[in-house]
Amino acid sequence: MLEEMGLTPIWRLRQPADMAATVASAPAEAAAPNAVSRVAGHQSPVTDHAFAHEATDSRAAAIMALDWPALKARVASCTDCVLHQKRNKTVFGVGDENAEWVFVGEGPGADEDAQGEPFVGQAGKLLDNMLAAIGLRRGTNVYICNVVKCRPPGNRNPEPTEALACEPYLHRQIELIRPKLIIALGKVAVSNLLATDASIASLRGKMHQYRGIPLLVTYHPAYLLRNLPDKAKAWADLCFAVRVMNDLKDSKGVSRES
Ligand code: URA
Ligand code: SF4
Repeated sequence: MLEEMGLTPIWRLRQPADMAATVASAPAEAAAPNAVSRVAGHQSPVTDHAFAHEATDSRAAAIMALDWPALKARVASCTDCVLHQKRNKTVFGVGDENAEWVFVGEGPGADEDAQGEPFVGQAGKLLDNMLAAIGLRRGTNVYICNVVKCRPPGNRNPEPTEALACEPYLHRQIELIRPKLIIALGKVAVSNLLATDASIASLRGKMHQYRGIPLLVTYHPAYLLRNLPDKAKAWADLCFAVRVMNDLKDSKGVSRES
């Protein structure tokens, strides 16, 4: 088990170049004619804000009514934030749509943007090893997705407006899956899912919730590739997650058929 996670004898440093890439400055806000851009506008008068919120709410409501095929199609053609401009492929999410486990990362990197699947680069290999370490496998009882479905240029963090624009898709994915447990990977996922600026260090090891679903926090695999000593903490987090999952199953009496 430890071997699968790379904890013995020592986790090897993999190529972190992609994740260490430039933190590009945010692109100028595009004047896209949609509700989210309107919300993002800084100078709008109050009445305009009120209108924008209404438009945003109706967009979210429309997304919440979509089934899987319609949701996938909508993301594939989405232009609701500036990230659509430089993406190659949208990265919807992958795995078991009846999964008990959902892992949420930040956003696609270069490999994911090219292939249209989350966590297929170096960080993805580590994520697969982390899954294997607790007896899980991509696609079986596990669903993997990101906060934003389009690659932020240069692997910069998604802007809050971009994460906000994309949130209804994640919300709908999670509502359709109805997992028992969500694992938020890294600061960007955590700050967006829990609406907090608190550090991973202060949040890990505790139970949280995303819209009523139990959520645990751990380090992002790309971060772990650059910070080897924290791999032991991630391992502890995974062990905690397994215990929590077992408790969740026990407390429900029977585990959900899938
Ligand atoms: N990092 C993420 O957060 N998500 C991916 O899909 C790939 C790398
Ligand atoms: Fe749409 Fe999300 Fe892509 Fe923005 S990041 S264009 S909201 S799918």
